[in-house]
Amino acid sequence: TYVIAQPCVDVRDRACVDECPVDCIYQGERMLYIQPDECVDCGACEPVCPAEAIFYADDVPDEWTDYIAINAEVFDGL
Ligand code: SF4
Repeated sequence: TYVIAQPCVDVRDRACVDECPVDCIYQGERMLYIQPDECVDCGACEPVCPAEAIFYADDVPDEWTDYIAINAEVFDGL
């Protein structure tokens, strides 16, 4: 799955939302989140993010690896 990390906080540009072919990027209060079970790993969202907040899960920089769980937890129980 792809993951949205800290640079999205209070930015929420939404360019990624228009690119996602499966509409799995959802708006939260302070950032956007990718639903990991719906993401098809196409990578279309990553280059269009002006904040460079989107990473493939294995490539999330060390300081933001918490965001892998943060994205997933948003959808727990939904
Ligand atoms: Fe959507 Fe593709 Fe980005 Fe996954 S990698 S969130 S499917 S645009």
